[in-house]
Amino acid sequence: MTILDGLATSKQIKHEIAFSVTEMVSSGSRPPHLAAVLVGDDGASLTYVTSKVKSCEEVGFRSTLIRRNSTITENELLALIANLNNDAELDGYIIQLPLPSHINEKNVLLAVDPRKDVDGFHPENVGRMVLGLPCYLPATPGGILELLKRYDVQTEGKHCVVIGRSHIVGLPMSILLQRNANPGNCTVTITHSKTKGLEEICRNADIIIAALGRPEFLKAEMVKEGAIVIDVGITRIPDDTKKSGFRLAGDVDFTAVAPKCSFITPVPGGVGPMTIVTLLSNTLQARVLHG
Ligand code: NAP
Repeated sequence: MTILDGLATSKQIKHEIAFSVTEMVSSGSRPPHLAAVLVGDDGASLTYVTSKVKSCEEVGFRSTLIRRNSTITENELLALIANLNNDAELDGYIIQLPLPSHINEKNVLLAVDPRKDVDGFHPENVGRMVLGLPCYLPATPGGILELLKRYDVQTEGKHCVVIGRSHIVGLPMSILLQRNANPGNCTVTITHSKTKGLEEICRNADIIIAALGRPEFLKAEMVKEGAIVIDVGITRIPDDTKKSGFRLAGDVDFTAVAPKCSFITPVPGGVGPMTIVTLLSNTLQARVLHG
Protein backbone atom coordinates (compact mmCIF):
# COMPACT_ATOMS: atom_id res chain seq x y z
CA MET A 1 0.00 0.00 0.00
CA THR A 2 1.32 3.41 -0.97
CA ILE A 3 0.22 6.60 0.73
CA LEU A 4 -0.37 9.36 -1.80
CA ASP A 5 1.39 12.11 0.12
CA GLY A 6 -0.33 15.32 -0.92
CA LEU A 7 1.69 17.43 1.49
CA ALA A 8 5.08 16.35 0.12
CA THR A 9 3.84 16.56 -3.48
CA SER A 10 2.40 20.02 -2.94
CA LYS A 11 5.74 21.19 -1.49
CA GLN A 12 7.52 19.95 -4.62
CA ILE A 13 5.03 21.78 -6.86
CA LYS A 14 5.41 24.94 -4.75
CA HIS A 15 9.19 24.78 -5.38
CA GLU A 16 8.50 24.57 -9.11
CA ILE A 17 6.08 27.52 -8.97
CA ALA A 18 8.50 29.58 -6.86
CA PHE A 19 11.21 28.94 -9.44
CA SER A 20 8.96 30.26 -12.24
CA VAL A 21 8.11 33.34 -10.17
CA THR A 22 11.78 34.05 -9.47
CA GLU A 23 12.52 33.87 -13.21
CA MET A 24 9.53 36.13 -13.95
CA VAL A 25 10.59 38.75 -11.41
CA SER A 26 14.26 38.66 -12.37
CA SER A 27 13.27 39.37 -15.98
CA GLY A 28 11.49 42.53 -14.79
CA SER A 29 7.87 41.31 -14.64
CA ARG A 30 5.64 41.65 -11.63
CA PRO A 31 4.82 38.46 -9.68
CA PRO A 32 1.38 36.82 -9.93
CA HIS A 33 -1.26 38.37 -7.68
CA LEU A 34 -4.13 36.39 -6.11
CA ALA A 35 -6.94 37.91 -4.05
CA ALA A 36 -9.33 36.05 -1.76
CA VAL A 37 -12.71 37.47 -0.74
CA LEU A 38 -14.04 36.29 2.60
CA VAL A 39 -17.54 37.30 3.68
CA GLY A 40 -18.38 36.82 7.37
CA ASP A 41 -16.29 35.20 10.08
CA ASP A 42 -16.86 31.45 9.75
CA GLY A 43 -13.89 29.75 11.44
CA ALA A 44 -13.34 27.01 8.84
CA SER A 45 -13.55 29.47 5.93
CA LEU A 46 -11.08 31.79 7.64
CA THR A 47 -8.66 28.86 8.14
CA TYR A 48 -8.89 27.86 4.45
CA VAL A 49 -8.45 31.41 3.18
CA THR A 50 -5.54 32.11 5.54
CA SER A 51 -3.71 29.03 4.37
CA LYS A 52 -4.27 30.01 0.72
CA VAL A 53 -2.84 33.48 1.41
CA LYS A 54 0.13 31.98 3.31
CA SER A 55 0.82 29.63 0.38
CA CYS A 56 0.94 32.63 -1.96
CA GLU A 57 3.67 34.17 0.17
CA GLU A 58 5.65 30.90 0.13
CA VAL A 59 5.91 30.94 -3.68
CA GLY A 60 6.53 34.68 -4.06
CA PHE A 61 3.03 35.69 -5.21
CA ARG A 62 1.42 38.90 -4.10
CA SER A 63 -1.77 38.16 -2.19
CA THR A 64 -4.65 40.24 -0.90
CA LEU A 65 -7.24 39.12 1.62
CA ILE A 66 -10.46 41.12 1.28
CA ARG A 67 -12.80 40.70 4.26
CA ARG A 68 -16.36 41.90 4.35
CA ASN A 69 -18.98 41.72 7.07
CA SER A 70 -21.72 39.09 6.62
CA THR A 71 -24.23 41.97 6.33
CA ILE A 72 -22.81 42.97 2.92
CA THR A 73 -25.58 43.14 0.31
CA GLU A 74 -25.48 41.21 -2.95
CA ASN A 75 -25.16 44.46 -4.91
CA GLU A 76 -22.23 45.59 -2.78
CA LEU A 77 -20.50 42.27 -3.34
CA LEU A 78 -21.17 42.47 -7.10
CA ALA A 79 -19.66 45.98 -7.11
CA LEU A 80 -16.55 44.62 -5.37
CA ILE A 81 -16.32 41.86 -7.99
CA ALA A 82 -16.59 44.42 -10.81
CA ASN A 83 -13.62 46.26 -9.28
CA LEU A 84 -11.60 43.05 -9.06
CA ASN A 85 -12.43 42.24 -12.69
CA ASN A 86 -11.10 45.66 -13.73
CA ASP A 87 -7.94 45.58 -11.59
CA ALA A 88 -5.08 45.23 -14.08
CA GLU A 89 -2.66 44.32 -11.26
CA LEU A 90 -4.74 41.32 -10.19
CA ASP A 91 -4.43 38.00 -12.04
CA GLY A 92 -7.02 35.92 -10.25
CA TYR A 93 -9.33 35.83 -7.26
CA ILE A 94 -11.53 33.50 -5.33
CA ILE A 95 -14.76 34.08 -3.45
CA GLN A 96 -14.65 31.76 -0.45
CA LEU A 97 -17.85 29.73 -0.18
CA PRO A 98 -20.32 29.41 1.40
CA LEU A 99 -21.74 32.92 1.21
CA PRO A 100 -24.45 34.18 3.61
CA SER A 101 -27.90 32.91 2.65
CA HIS A 102 -29.19 36.34 1.55
CA ILE A 103 -26.63 36.35 -1.31
CA ASN A 104 -27.33 34.34 -4.46
CA GLU A 105 -24.12 32.37 -5.06
CA LYS A 106 -24.97 31.80 -8.74
CA ASN A 107 -25.21 35.56 -9.41
CA VAL A 108 -21.83 36.05 -7.76
CA LEU A 109 -20.25 33.19 -9.69
CA LEU A 110 -21.52 34.52 -13.01
CA ALA A 111 -20.09 37.98 -12.27
CA VAL A 112 -16.50 36.70 -12.04
CA ASP A 113 -14.42 37.38 -15.15
CA PRO A 114 -13.64 33.87 -16.49
CA ARG A 115 -10.05 34.97 -17.14
CA LYS A 116 -9.64 35.63 -13.40
CA ASP A 117 -11.72 32.64 -12.27
CA VAL A 118 -8.81 30.63 -10.83
CA ASP A 119 -11.25 28.44 -8.87
CA GLY A 120 -12.57 27.23 -12.25
CA PHE A 121 -16.22 27.58 -11.17
CA HIS A 122 -17.49 29.94 -13.92
CA PRO A 123 -19.66 28.17 -16.57
CA GLU A 124 -17.19 29.22 -19.27
CA ASN A 125 -14.39 27.34 -17.52
CA VAL A 126 -16.67 24.40 -16.70
CA GLY A 127 -17.75 24.20 -20.36
CA ARG A 128 -14.15 24.36 -21.55
CA MET A 129 -13.23 21.59 -19.08
CA VAL A 130 -16.04 19.39 -20.42
CA LEU A 131 -14.86 19.93 -23.99
CA GLY A 132 -11.21 19.34 -23.08
CA LEU A 133 -10.22 22.91 -24.01
CA PRO A 134 -7.60 24.92 -22.11
CA CYS A 135 -9.16 26.19 -18.85
CA TYR A 136 -8.64 26.59 -15.14
CA LEU A 137 -9.41 23.20 -13.63
CA PRO A 138 -11.42 23.36 -10.40
CA ALA A 139 -8.81 23.18 -7.68
CA THR A 140 -9.79 19.98 -5.84
CA PRO A 141 -10.33 17.68 -8.85
CA GLY A 142 -7.33 19.30 -10.56
CA GLY A 143 -5.20 18.60 -7.48
CA ILE A 144 -6.33 14.97 -7.38
CA LEU A 145 -5.40 14.50 -11.07
CA GLU A 146 -1.97 15.99 -10.42
CA LEU A 147 -1.41 13.72 -7.42
CA LEU A 148 -2.34 10.63 -9.48
CA LYS A 149 -0.03 11.81 -12.26
CA ARG A 150 2.95 12.45 -9.99
CA TYR A 151 2.64 8.98 -8.44
CA ASP A 152 2.19 7.46 -11.91
CA VAL A 153 -1.07 5.82 -10.81
CA GLN A 154 -2.57 4.00 -13.80
CA THR A 155 -6.24 4.85 -14.31
CA GLU A 156 -6.91 3.70 -17.89
CA GLY A 157 -9.71 1.14 -18.20
CA LYS A 158 -10.43 1.23 -14.48
CA HIS A 159 -13.89 1.50 -12.94
CA CYS A 160 -14.03 4.66 -10.86
CA VAL A 161 -16.83 5.37 -8.40
CA VAL A 162 -17.24 8.99 -7.34
CA ILE A 163 -19.32 9.48 -4.18
CA GLY A 164 -20.83 12.98 -4.28
CA ARG A 165 -22.02 15.12 -7.21
CA SER A 166 -21.26 18.67 -6.03
CA HIS A 167 -20.34 21.21 -8.69
CA ILE A 168 -16.95 21.82 -7.08
CA VAL A 169 -15.78 18.25 -6.45
CA GLY A 170 -17.82 15.18 -7.44
CA LEU A 171 -19.24 16.28 -10.79
CA PRO A 172 -16.03 17.75 -12.27
CA MET A 173 -14.04 14.81 -10.90
CA SER A 174 -16.28 12.36 -12.76
CA ILE A 175 -15.93 14.38 -15.98
CA LEU A 176 -12.15 14.61 -15.72
CA LEU A 177 -11.64 10.92 -15.02
CA GLN A 178 -13.70 9.78 -18.02
CA ARG A 179 -11.77 12.01 -20.45
CA ASN A 180 -9.48 10.51 -23.06
CA ALA A 181 -6.39 11.63 -21.17
CA ASN A 182 -3.86 10.52 -18.59
CA PRO A 183 -4.98 10.39 -15.83
CA GLY A 184 -8.38 9.53 -17.26
CA ASN A 185 -9.93 6.90 -19.50
CA CYS A 186 -11.88 5.50 -16.57
CA THR A 187 -15.36 4.08 -16.71
CA VAL A 188 -17.03 6.35 -14.18
CA THR A 189 -20.03 5.80 -11.93
CA ILE A 190 -21.17 8.96 -10.16
CA THR A 191 -23.23 8.43 -7.00
CA HIS A 192 -25.15 10.61 -4.53
CA SER A 193 -27.49 10.47 -1.56
CA LYS A 194 -30.30 8.91 -3.63
CA THR A 195 -28.12 6.13 -5.04
CA LYS A 196 -29.33 2.62 -4.23
CA GLY A 197 -26.87 -0.18 -3.47
CA LEU A 198 -23.88 2.10 -2.94
CA GLU A 199 -21.98 -0.53 -0.91
CA GLU A 200 -22.15 -3.02 -3.77
CA ILE A 201 -21.23 -0.34 -6.33
CA CYS A 202 -18.17 0.60 -4.27
CA ARG A 203 -17.10 -3.04 -3.88
CA ASN A 204 -16.85 -3.23 -7.69
CA ALA A 205 -14.70 -0.11 -7.94
CA ASP A 206 -11.00 -0.02 -8.84
CA ILE A 207 -10.89 3.64 -7.81
CA ILE A 208 -13.13 5.35 -5.21
CA ILE A 209 -13.27 9.12 -4.82
CA ALA A 210 -15.07 9.81 -1.53
CA ALA A 211 -16.43 13.38 -1.56
CA LEU A 212 -19.59 13.46 0.51
CA GLY A 213 -18.58 15.10 3.80
CA ARG A 214 -19.59 12.22 6.12
CA PRO A 215 -16.74 11.28 8.47
CA GLU A 216 -15.42 7.72 8.01
CA PHE A 217 -18.33 6.81 5.72
CA LEU A 218 -16.31 4.46 3.51
CA LYS A 219 -15.75 1.24 5.45
CA ALA A 220 -13.39 -1.66 4.72
CA GLU A 221 -16.23 -3.94 3.61
CA MET A 222 -17.10 -1.43 0.83
CA VAL A 223 -13.63 -1.60 -0.70
CA LYS A 224 -12.10 -4.39 -2.78
CA GLU A 225 -8.50 -5.56 -2.39
CA GLY A 226 -6.05 -3.39 -4.32
CA ALA A 227 -8.41 -0.44 -4.76
CA ILE A 228 -7.21 3.15 -5.10
CA VAL A 229 -8.99 5.38 -2.57
CA ILE A 230 -9.01 9.17 -2.66
CA ASP A 231 -10.47 10.83 0.43
CA VAL A 232 -11.71 14.36 -0.26
CA GLY A 233 -13.74 14.82 2.92
CA ILE A 234 -12.80 17.32 5.59
CA THR A 235 -15.07 17.51 8.63
CA ARG A 236 -14.20 19.23 11.89
CA ILE A 237 -14.89 16.91 14.83
CA PRO A 238 -14.86 18.46 18.33
CA ASP A 239 -11.82 17.13 20.22
CA ASP A 240 -10.83 18.48 23.64
CA THR A 241 -7.37 16.93 23.40
CA LYS A 242 -6.47 19.30 20.52
CA LYS A 243 -5.35 22.87 21.07
CA SER A 244 -7.73 23.97 18.29
CA GLY A 245 -10.63 22.11 19.97
CA PHE A 246 -11.23 19.92 16.90
CA ARG A 247 -9.67 17.29 14.67
CA LEU A 248 -10.11 16.83 10.94
CA ALA A 249 -11.85 13.68 9.74
CA GLY A 250 -11.99 12.36 6.19
CA ASP A 251 -14.79 10.41 4.52
CA VAL A 252 -12.80 7.17 4.73
CA ASP A 253 -12.28 4.89 7.72
CA PHE A 254 -8.55 5.12 7.02
CA THR A 255 -7.26 2.62 9.61
CA ALA A 256 -9.49 -0.19 8.35
CA VAL A 257 -9.49 0.69 4.64
CA ALA A 258 -5.78 1.48 4.05
CA PRO A 259 -4.47 -2.13 4.38
CA LYS A 260 -6.74 -3.20 1.48
CA CYS A 261 -5.61 -0.42 -0.88
CA SER A 262 -2.89 -0.16 -3.49
CA PHE A 263 -2.94 3.64 -3.05
CA ILE A 264 -4.74 5.86 -0.56
CA THR A 265 -4.71 9.53 0.45
CA PRO A 266 -4.60 10.50 4.14
CA VAL A 267 -6.58 13.27 5.88
CA PRO A 268 -5.00 15.65 6.61
CA GLY A 269 -2.07 15.77 4.18
CA GLY A 270 -3.75 14.32 1.08
CA VAL A 271 -6.18 16.19 -1.15
CA GLY A 272 -6.23 19.43 0.92
CA PRO A 273 -2.68 20.64 0.16
CA MET A 274 -3.09 19.59 -3.49
CA THR A 275 -6.21 21.78 -3.74
CA ILE A 276 -4.28 24.84 -2.58
CA VAL A 277 -1.33 24.22 -4.86
CA THR A 278 -3.67 23.85 -7.87
CA LEU A 279 -5.08 27.27 -7.06
CA LEU A 280 -1.51 28.61 -7.17
CA SER A 281 -0.86 26.84 -10.50
CA ASN A 282 -4.04 28.36 -11.93
CA THR A 283 -2.96 31.82 -10.76
CA LEU A 284 0.46 31.41 -12.36
CA GLN A 285 -1.33 30.32 -15.55
CA ALA A 286 -3.55 33.42 -15.34
CA ARG A 287 -0.50 35.67 -14.98
CA VAL A 288 1.22 34.07 -17.97
CA LEU A 289 -1.87 34.04 -20.22
CA HIS A 290 -3.57 37.33 -19.38
CA GLY A 291 -1.16 39.40 -17.25
P1 NAP B 1 -21.56 18.92 -0.80
O1 NAP B 1 -21.76 20.06 -1.73
O2 NAP B 1 -22.26 18.89 0.51
O3 NAP B 1 -21.93 17.60 -1.62
C1 NAP B 1 -21.96 16.36 -0.98
C2 NAP B 1 -22.37 15.31 -1.97
O4 NAP B 1 -22.35 14.06 -1.31
C3 NAP B 1 -23.78 15.51 -2.53
O5 NAP B 1 -23.79 15.24 -3.92
C4 NAP B 1 -24.61 14.49 -1.76
O6 NAP B 1 -25.69 13.96 -2.50
C5 NAP B 1 -23.59 13.40 -1.53
N1 NAP B 1 -23.93 12.59 -0.37
C6 NAP B 1 -24.26 13.00 0.88
N2 NAP B 1 -24.54 11.94 1.67
C7 NAP B 1 -24.40 10.85 0.90
C8 NAP B 1 -24.55 9.47 1.14
N3 NAP B 1 -24.91 8.99 2.34
N4 NAP B 1 -24.31 8.61 0.13
C9 NAP B 1 -23.93 9.07 -1.10
N5 NAP B 1 -23.76 10.37 -1.39
C10 NAP B 1 -24.00 11.25 -0.40
O7 NAP B 1 -20.02 18.73 -0.46
P2 NAP B 1 -18.67 19.12 -1.27
O8 NAP B 1 -18.52 20.58 -1.30
O9 NAP B 1 -18.58 18.33 -2.52
O10 NAP B 1 -17.60 18.55 -0.24
C11 NAP B 1 -17.56 17.18 0.13
C12 NAP B 1 -16.53 17.01 1.23
O11 NAP B 1 -15.25 17.36 0.69
C13 NAP B 1 -16.73 17.91 2.45
O12 NAP B 1 -16.26 17.21 3.60
C14 NAP B 1 -15.82 19.08 2.18
O13 NAP B 1 -15.39 19.74 3.36
C15 NAP B 1 -14.68 18.40 1.50
N6 NAP B 1 -13.88 19.24 0.61
C16 NAP B 1 -12.55 19.12 0.70
C17 NAP B 1 -11.73 19.83 -0.13
C18 NAP B 1 -10.26 19.65 -0.02
O14 NAP B 1 -9.51 20.50 -0.46
N7 NAP B 1 -9.80 18.54 0.55
C19 NAP B 1 -12.27 20.72 -1.07
C20 NAP B 1 -13.66 20.81 -1.18
C21 NAP B 1 -14.48 20.05 -0.33
P3 NAP B 1 -26.96 14.85 -2.99
O15 NAP B 1 -26.46 15.61 -4.19
O16 NAP B 1 -27.99 13.85 -3.35
O17 NAP B 1 -27.32 15.75 -1.85
